[in-house]
Amino acid sequence: MQIEDHKIALDFDRAHIWHPYTSATKPLPTQLIESASGVRLRMADGRELVDGMASWWCAIHGYNHPELNDAAKTQIDKMSHVMFGGITHQPAIDLCKRLIDITPARLQHVFLADSGSISVEVAMKMAVQFWHAKAQPSKRKMLSLRGGYHGDTFAAMSVCDPDTGMHHLFNDAVVQQVFTERPSCRFSNSFDQASTDDLERMLSQHHHELAAVTLEPIVQGAGGMWFYHPNYLKRVRELCDQFKVLLIADEIATGFGRTGKLFACEWADIEPDILCLGKALTGGYMTLAATLASSEVANGISENGGVFMHGPTFMGNPLACAVANASISVLFESDWQKNVSRIEGKLEQELHSAKDLSSVEDVRVLGAIGVIEMKQTIDTVFAQAFFVERGVWVRPFGKLLYIMPPYSISNEDLSLVCQAMIEFAQVRTAQSY
Ligand SMILES: *Cc1c(COP(=O)(O)O)cnc(C)c1O
Repeated sequence: MQIEDHKIALDFDRAHIWHPYTSATKPLPTQLIESASGVRLRMADGRELVDGMASWWCAIHGYNHPELNDAAKTQIDKMSHVMFGGITHQPAIDLCKRLIDITPARLQHVFLADSGSISVEVAMKMAVQFWHAKAQPSKRKMLSLRGGYHGDTFAAMSVCDPDTGMHHLFNDAVVQQVFTERPSCRFSNSFDQASTDDLERMLSQHHHELAAVTLEPIVQGAGGMWFYHPNYLKRVRELCDQFKVLLIADEIATGFGRTGKLFACEWADIEPDILCLGKALTGGYMTLAATLASSEVANGISENGGVFMHGPTFMGNPLACAVANASISVLFESDWQKNVSRIEGKLEQELHSAKDLSSVEDVRVLGAIGVIEMKQTIDTVFAQAFFVERGVWVRPFGKLLYIMPPYSISNEDLSLVCQAMIEFAQVRTAQSY
């Protein structure tokens, strides 16, 4: 493509195409990316960016991976898609078998959904239908954690943080759920018993109207990149059992090794009743998500001839399943634990110095996630240009400068990304903004 073509393409994009959380008339600038390989995004003008975002948690093996490419090509020659109603196929069977194998033991039933948000909707529906089947239809609300993020569809929005989420825009259109405070006890601090007081209070007050607790185990992602203590999660499980409320673990961001455990629930050694997976499921190749349920939940819903009322058109898409199978194979064939702990060590070492900068509120690292929380909201347009100029791809939101790179990133490339983040924080300090 010629420079003029790039300009025409970008002008059209600007005038007609909506990007995530962006104005149609005053959109933020976009970068034209032509291809991607390994941990590098190649811009249309030939420049390369080392990717710190793994395309929002997804591309854990990097881009253009030979084994994932092969899986997609082989499957596309057999069939790209076939309806899942009354039909099944090997890629879905292999994937579900695999997911049951690697997730907590009680999860024995899989619903394949087409995106993370939908898998959350499905999980909530399962919980509500479960209590309906148990002749307790008043148990249909969710208890959710402040600071949480579970997606952008209506039901998913209802369990997102009520302040930073989008509730205020939709008012009564969003179901009113019950909220407890953000887990105050941080991952790296010693556990403070009092941090579960509010949770216990809300459960004891509301359990008769609660179908489930919905949470992101250990790492709250888009709601603030907040890492909380495993004992909090342990206590949630105990209280859910005590008050007869299901536990929905949303591991759409944390799943597949990101926090240093294959699934973040393992930090607390607990098993949810329902589990949502997405994002890295296909290694970032295409959209696919899964909701897994315990036999108790699945059997409950199915009592007296009950059926589960959901069935997306692209349910169990063979192409996505085939790539997911390849992605999970690559994960297990690679020494992902060693890689994630290498990245964790490097992030700690590289980002540590930002702690002393006056513009910085906090620096935190867990697994292959690195966060610099600034004191003030980051100007996205400035930040974007700043990072692109330095050959890295980091996309901040709010006060958070954060990365979750592909596990395959080399120490040198990771260093490049971290140094750009430090430099950004320094510039902001110098400008004392
Ligand atoms: C991204 C995300 C979702 C939503 O997934 P989509 O595929 O964007 O619909 C839900 N929950 C968590 C924790 C997420 O990080």
